[in-house]
Amino acid sequence: MEQRRNIKALTLAQLGQTLKDWGVEGFRFEQVFRWLYQKDVASFDEMSNLSKALRAKLAEHFTVERMIPAAVQVSDDGTRKFLFQLSDKESVESVLIPNEERQTLCISTQVGCAMACSFCLTGTLGLTRNLSHYEIVEQVMAVQRALGPETRITNVVYMGMGEPLHNFDNVVESVRLLIDEKALNLSKNKVTVSTSGLVPQMLKFGELLDVKLAVSLTGTTDEMRDVLIPVNRKYDLKTLMRACRDYPMKRRNRITFEYTLLKGVNDSLEDAKRLIKLLQGIPAKVNLIPFNEYPGSLYRRCEDETMFRFQKYLLDRHVQANVRTSRGRDILGACGQLKAAMEQRRVPKRPRVSEAGSAPTAN
Ligand code: SF4
Repeated sequence: MEQRRNIKALTLAQLGQTLKDWGVEGFRFEQVFRWLYQKDVASFDEMSNLSKALRAKLAEHFTVERMIPAAVQVSDDGTRKFLFQLSDKESVESVLIPNEERQTLCISTQVGCAMACSFCLTGTLGLTRNLSHYEIVEQVMAVQRALGPETRITNVVYMGMGEPLHNFDNVVESVRLLIDEKALNLSKNKVTVSTSGLVPQMLKFGELLDVKLAVSLTGTTDEMRDVLIPVNRKYDLKTLMRACRDYPMKRRNRITFEYTLLKGVNDSLEDAKRLIKLLQGIPAKVNLIPFNEYPGSLYRRCEDETMFRFQKYLLDRHVQANVRTSRGRDILGACGQLKAAMEQRRVPKRPRVSEAGSAPTAN
């Protein structure tokens, strides 16, 4: 007998085609789709507006699977970190960051990451594999299940483990499910996909979907960025900023530039000045992120005073700049840190940007 497949591992196109091949009426597709993603059923039996025969046929070929968190850590400030073990025993994590107005979930797109950014713990793990669109969407569904109906996830950011645009097709399919009004029905303005600077994929993504884009900048010269975010060696700052200028965007939308402040590396007013120059002509806002140190990290967190001076420099020159307060520090808030801590991985040696200047040094 043919092995049953997880129905949510099918793309929407595949699901539609399967039902069509079975000779099922077109409107049934929407019904199945709603049961799976909007009503979040655990079995085909619950799909009460389908005929018994169709439910039986679905159950003969498919299963309805769900991911369950293997561990949850709750921070003093309410941040919750969920670790998911996948069917091949790999694991990824998602972080829920609540505040008065929003419940923001940060999700992962890959097991590990190939980008090797020198300030990021996930970058030390290397890439193991891409997540399927099911494994990406299910992080949102599983956390929503854990929260219960009273508390809705309002925002989703693709800023956990992995470079989202390096797993392009699965990320696109997952975003479609998040924003489809028959599925998770999140507003396009509440979904943000980040990239470390994969320029061709970024432009292609902008053509397909108009959710929000965040670019991890973190360095203001090629010399610095080549070490901090090595993909810069392929797509340098000039290429990246030109792509940001050309990025297809709706009126009033902005690109968010993520800037992780590293003590003595990229936190001077000279950096702030270069940053303003880079952003010229781009509808932009800047998120200043205090670095979350981790055991073995190559960089240090900059002083709050330095961070606010940096922010003021930008604000005084009419660049919108927010300081993203570091949440969940007591449970290791940055991406990859729960996984690495649970696996007790050692952080390998990597090149870093020296504090004295921007020249790369072997550590
Ligand atoms: S910062 Fe993002 S892109 Fe860079 S290594 Fe970490 S997870 Fe990958």
